[in-house]
Amino acid sequence: MKQAERTAGLTKIARTVASCTGCTLSNCRTSTVAGDGNPLASIMIIGEAPGRQEDESGLPFVGMAGKYLDKLLAIAGLTRADVFITNVVKCRPPDNRKPEREEMAACADFLKQQIAIIQPKLIICLGGTSANAVLGIKQLVNEHGKLIQRDGRYYFVAYHPAARFHRKMIAEDFEKLSLELAKLPELRRMDIV
Ligand code: SF4
Repeated sequence: MKQAERTAGLTKIARTVASCTGCTLSNCRTSTVAGDGNPLASIMIIGEAPGRQEDESGLPFVGMAGKYLDKLLAIAGLTRADVFITNVVKCRPPDNRKPEREEMAACADFLKQQIAIIQPKLIICLGGTSANAVLGIKQLVNEHGKLIQRDGRYYFVAYHPAARFHRKMIAEDFEKLSLELAKLPELRRMDIV
C-alpha cells in the first residue's frame, strides 16, 4: 500500500475513533487517541491505553512516559520516526485503571485495521495488557525481552514504560531488542512505496 493510501486509511480510522461510542470509555474521555507515527513504519508499538496527558493532547505517549519511551527507543537505535504508536484502547480509562475485557473487545477492530494498513514487520507490545490482547500472553515474567515469531511476523514484548518498579528490566528489554534488530536489520527497513 502506498504512503498516501496508508495515510488516508489511518486518518479514516482516527475520524471513526473520534466519534466512537462503542464502550463506556467514551463517556469520560476528553480526546480520543487513535495513534501517531510514520505510516510507512515497519515497526508498530502497541501500549495499553491513553493516560491523562494523552487524553488531553490526543496523542499517544506524551509527557513523562513519552520521554521515557523516547529514551528506550534510543537504546534500541530507534526514534519516533521509525515507528507507528497506538494503544489497545483509544480512550482513557478513569483513573488510569486497566481497560476491561469488554472495552478491549469493543475497540479491537480499530487496532486490527491499523495493523492491516501498516503491515508492520515487528510489533512491540508494551505491558501485559497489550501482550495479552495481541498475543494472548497472560504473564510477562517469562515472555518479556524475547523476540517471538508468529504467523509470518515478529513480536517483542516488554514491560510498559509507566511501570516504575520495572525500570531496570524495561531498559534491559530494549537492550535485548537492540541486539535482535542488529541480527535482523530487515525488521527496521521501511518498504519504499
Ligand atoms: S475505547 Fe475504543 S470502543 Fe471504546 S469508545 Fe473509545 S474508541 Fe470506542
